[in-house]
This record gives sequence, C-alpha cells and structure tokens, in this order.
Amino acid sequence: MLTQEKKQRNWKPIIKQFEAVVGKNGVVKRREELITYECDGLTSYRQRPDVVVLPRTTEQVAEIVKICDRNSIPFIARGAGTGLSGGALPTEDCVLIVTALMRQILSVDLENQQVVVQPGVINNWVTQTVSGAGFYYAPDPSSQIICSIGGNVAENSGGVHCLKYGVTTNHVLGLKLVLPDGSIVDVGGQIPEMPGYDLTGVFVGSEGTLGIATEVTLKILKTAQSICVLLADFTSVEAAGAAVSDIISGGIIPAGMEMMDNLSINAVEDVVATGCYPRDAEAILLVEIDGLEVEVAANKQRIAAICKQNGARNITTASDPVQRLKLWKGRKAAFAAAGHLSPDYYVQDGVIPRTQLPYVLQEIKYLGEKYGYRIANVFHAGDGNLHPLVLYDNSIPGALEKVEELGGEILKLCVKVGGSLSGEHGIGADKRCYMPNMFSPSDLEAMQWVRAAFNPKGLANPGKIFPTPRTCGEAARAQSAKQFETVERF
Ligand SMILES: Cc1cc2nc3c(=O)[nH]c(=O)nc-3n(C[C@H](O)[C@H](O)[C@H](O)COP(=O)(O)OP(=O)(O)OC[C@H]3O[C@@H](n4cnc5c(N)ncnc54)[C@H](O)[C@@H]3O)c2cc1C
Repeated sequence: MLTQEKKQRNWKPIIKQFEAVVGKNGVVKRREELITYECDGLTSYRQRPDVVVLPRTTEQVAEIVKICDRNSIPFIARGAGTGLSGGALPTEDCVLIVTALMRQILSVDLENQQVVVQPGVINNWVTQTVSGAGFYYAPDPSSQIICSIGGNVAENSGGVHCLKYGVTTNHVLGLKLVLPDGSIVDVGGQIPEMPGYDLTGVFVGSEGTLGIATEVTLKILKTAQSICVLLADFTSVEAAGAAVSDIISGGIIPAGMEMMDNLSINAVEDVVATGCYPRDAEAILLVEIDGLEVEVAANKQRIAAICKQNGARNITTASDPVQRLKLWKGRKAAFAAAGHLSPDYYVQDGVIPRTQLPYVLQEIKYLGEKYGYRIANVFHAGDGNLHPLVLYDNSIPGALEKVEELGGEILKLCVKVGGSLSGEHGIGADKRCYMPNMFSPSDLEAMQWVRAAFNPKGLANPGKIFPTPRTCGEAARAQSAKQFETVERF
C-alpha cells in the first residue's frame, strides 16, 4: 500500500502574500472550491492542491513564483486542465498557478503574420480573431474550443491539421517566461531564426517543468485558396492503413489525414449523428487537402484513386466550408463520443512509423482481447499518432490497474516498432515510468541537466516527465488505497 507523509505547512502567511499580489479574489483556498483543480483530463489521478492562484499579468506571475521560491513551495502551471497525461496534476504541498484570467490577445500583426497572446487564451480564439482577414492558426487539437495556448505550448500539442504544417513548436516564434526563481526572460522573438540557443524550442513541450509562459508570439498562416475534404470508407483497417502509406509515399502531404475504426464510427454516429460515416465500415479515412485550386483538384483525383486501389467502397468529397465541417464534426467529437460506449475510457497516445499501422492495429486488437477490453481507435493516421481508447468501468475493482497495464503494453509496442511514447499529449505523470523504454540513462540525464539549469530547486511541476521508482500503476494504487483525502486546513 502506498503511504505518504503529509507535510504540514502553515499556509496562512503565504496566502496573505499571494493576496497582496493578486487580491483576495485571485486566491482559491476553500476545500470545496479546490476540488475543481484536483485533476486534469486524466481523471484517474487526483490530488487536491493546497492553494490556487489566478494572476492576470506577467508581473503577478513573477511575484507569485518568487514567493514560492523563497518558501520552497512547488508550483504547477495550469491552463484549461484538459491535458490527458496528468501534466497539471497537483502534488502534495503545492500551489497551482492557473492562467484562466490571462486571456488577452495582446497584439495582431497581419502584415507579419503574428499574434501575441496571454497563455490563457483559448486555442480557437486565435483563428476566430484573424479568420475575417483570411488567416488562421494551424495547430488545432480536438480540444481547441477549450484548451489554452499556454497548455498547447507546454505539451507541444498537435491536431488534425498538423500533418502538413507541423505541431505547436513550428508555430511559436517567441515566449515571455517566468523562470522558477521569478525572473522574467524573453526567448525567441518576432523573426523565425534568432541567434543563440533555441530556448523557445527547449521550452515548447517542457510540460511546465522549466517555468511559466506568460506571453506567446504565434505565427498565423494565410487561409489556402482552395480546401477539400475526402471521406473514404473501407471494409478493413489494414486497407485504410495501406492507403495512408500510399498517399504519403506518392508524394502528397495532405493538411490532415485521420482514421477512425468501426467502434469509433458508431460511437460518433450515436452521439452527433453526422449521417456521413457508414456504420458498417471497418475504417474511414478523412483526408483534407489544401493549396491552389489546380493543385487541390489534381490531388483530390490522385487520393481518390489511391483509396480505390486499396479497396475503398465510397468516396465523398466536400469543398464548401459547411460540408467540410460536417465531415470533420464526427472526428472532432470522437473522444467525447467514446463516453457513450462505456462508463470510463483511457486514452493512450503513442506514435509509430506509418508503415507499421496494419501490424500495430492488429496487435492492439489482440492486446484488448488478452486483457478483456474493447479498444476504439481514432487517430492522426498521416503521422502515425495513435489514440487507442480503452473502454472500461472504473467501478469494477482492479479495472484501472489492468487498464493501466494494457496502456503500458501499447506504449511498449509503439517503442518496439520504432515509434514514441507520446505524439502530443505529453508524458506528464501518466507515462514517466515508460521513459526508460525509450531513452537510455544518459539520454535522460541530459534532459535532467536542462531541467536543472532552468529549475535548479525542482519547484516547477515536480514529479512530471521523469521516472521515479513506484511511478507505474500509481493511479490504480492510489485509488485502491483511497488516499485522495486531504486535510481540511482552512
Ligand atoms: C477531448 C479532448 C481532446 C483532445 N485532443 C487533443 C488533440 O487533438 N491534440 C493534442 O495535442 N491534445 C489534445 N488533447 C489534450 C489537451 O487538450 C492538450 O494537451 C492541451 O494542450 C492542454 O491544454 P490546457 O490548457 O488544458 O493545459 P493543462 O491541462 O492545464 O496543462 C497541460 C500542461 O501544460 C502546463 N502548462 C499550462 N499552462 C502553462 C503555461 N502558461 N506555462 C507553462 N506550462 C503550462 C501544465 O503544467 C501541464 O503540464 C485533448 C484533450 C481532450 C480532453
């Protein structure tokens, strides 16, 4: 049984200092209000924070962090809390610094195709702000209507349109950061290639372990002249996987290429009833192409032909925005729709070489059968980023433990075929124990040097990314030990 000694800190004087910076309304300290912050999208891990602080400016974040530094208090940045790897999970004896009030779009420079935002700005707002002028922000996680840009930066988030244009790191030009000692630094800038170390690149994807981003300069793109979405349905997952490989090896890079299997198709049709996804298909492919009209027209023909050669039954295409949205609607709602299939589900996020798709999907099916769970698959097929959704019922004793073990088997399989532990959801608390499966001790040590250089006292988001003994199966152990109870202090 997992036991932890609770440190008893006297929070009262510290809270007074926080209130002096952000006002009484900027500090959450009541037990019932803190419950909101006890987990992120990975709900199997829970820990109530001791205090939540809601700053509005870089300077306020810096002052809060300085108080944490002086008092050796661990702090964790939190955006919208939609992360799926437990990145914003509180630790014992910590302050959560939540960016929900840092939601200003600070400047829009269409000529130079840049937007500067505070980290709490919701991903989708960036495109909404510039779309009227013919621009958009490319990284579009399925959670884009709720997740924050700060969270996207920390997780290096991807989305359905990242195949051609790249994930978040390719769209962040510069950052204003509060380092773990409270100092404020600017990294990167307004031009793509700055001299010196690429600290923007180091920070993007660092999951809150190197400090807090308080301003983000984003690159926006011009909306393509022509956009077309194709939906192809297949009678086997293998055939759809082969079509994906053939499209890319044929030299076409679609803006996005997504696959859903039969379980996901039916879940989506039950919940959002697109009417477009054939319920009897074993797999569908959604392929979006963009560019000049002539180029899109030519690629549309080629992709349709490749899908047909690989056994596609029907191909539907949509060029006008309303019809395109209709084809995408089901894919965007796929995670939510999985909730319709079972009381709980566990989303895994691994990457494999595209050519391994048929083999890995078959192996995942066998693993599901071995452990006795149904697994729905909905994923970014173009870049081999899998999202198996393991369907289970958490009220059954031992289920979470088995599901975590199954999730681990899937990750090990991804690494075995030359892939990776995460495509976009990050390592967080959930997957740190698998890091040694992918990295050697010296690889991990080199990463730790970077962490120590920015975060020498280890106060910024401790316990994430890097493995510690006991980390595997932690959520299940904690649940069975019923150790989520915290002490009433206020
Ligand atoms: C239904 C659903 C669909 C999803 N689809 C996708 C998808 O398609 N692609 C994808 O990539 N992800 C997806 N996700 C996961 C999640 O939405 C992303 O990881 C997102 O970037 C998290 O943003 P957030 O604001 O919720 O961050 P949080 O969950 O609050 O935090 C995530 C991490 O970022 C750190 N952090 C937050 N703000 C800052 C900051 N200002 N400075 C430094 N660190 C910070 C936190 O400490 C934590 O480690 C999905 C999640 C859900 C629930």
